[in-house]
Amino acid sequence: MPEPDRPLLQLRGITRVFRVGTETVHALNGVDLDVDRGEYVAIMGSSGSGKSTMMNVLGCLDQPTAGTYHLAGTAVSGMSSRALAEVRNARLGFIFQAFELMPRTAAWKNVALPLMYAEDGRRRGGQTPKTRAMSALEKVGLSDRAGHHPNQLSGGQKQRVAIARALVNHPKILFADEPTGNLDSRTTTEILELFGRLHGEGHTIVMVTHESDVAASAGRVIRMRDGVIDSDRSTDDDPVTAPFRRPVEAPAP
Ligand code: ADP
Ligand code: MG
Repeated sequence: MPEPDRPLLQLRGITRVFRVGTETVHALNGVDLDVDRGEYVAIMGSSGSGKSTMMNVLGCLDQPTAGTYHLAGTAVSGMSSRALAEVRNARLGFIFQAFELMPRTAAWKNVALPLMYAEDGRRRGGQTPKTRAMSALEKVGLSDRAGHHPNQLSGGQKQRVAIARALVNHPKILFADEPTGNLDSRTTTEILELFGRLHGEGHTIVMVTHESDVAASAGRVIRMRDGVIDSDRSTDDDPVTAPFRRPVEAPAP
């Protein structure tokens, strides 16, 4: 049973240690974090501060060395990699900086790819993978490019295909690692508008970015430093993101 009073994502004492030869790297050093349903969170911090490692743990792509992770009330830390893959496929969508699309494959086939891994998902609701991919492409405004290969698309269109792929299984939680890192400012705005719409429709979004104006589109900004959370504030209260927040229109006198 879902427990609505619990946070959607809950990390307690999360540590992730990497061993490289004789060296030990503490990528995460005891992270506590609660994210509620429907939040839109930006994660910032300098290179090497642990942002991607935290996203990978949150996204069930990696297991922590120590600590506990509850996702919607279920302890996922300690699950087998097979069970984790099922959690990912059913509940989570991923968007990456470099899009990670299959090059010589039509956009709709790229979008349908996650359905091929879902054991029961191929014909959910009597819909074929193609029908489901097409409706995801429609959500991102790319129905007219379904047959194009990624190299026939602009950067913004590629990222929209990747977002459609993230949405095809109807996950409620989206993880994006530097989703606008390869995009120009106009396209960045387009993608952020799309994220804003998805957030408005009830998706929980966790996004890594190093750009303050991008982080400002979220409601909350978390800064990482040396594998710990350094600050955690509303983007309206954060001195760096607040100037980028859209000013509230003053009521007419
Ligand atoms: P960020 O995303 O903030 O740039 P990362 O989470 O990628 O930082 O990395 C945090 C630290 O962990 C860095 O020192 C990095 O070198 C190290 N690290 C990350 N992944 C690995 C890995 N697979 N093997 C060894 N060290 C890693
Ligand atoms: Mg990173």
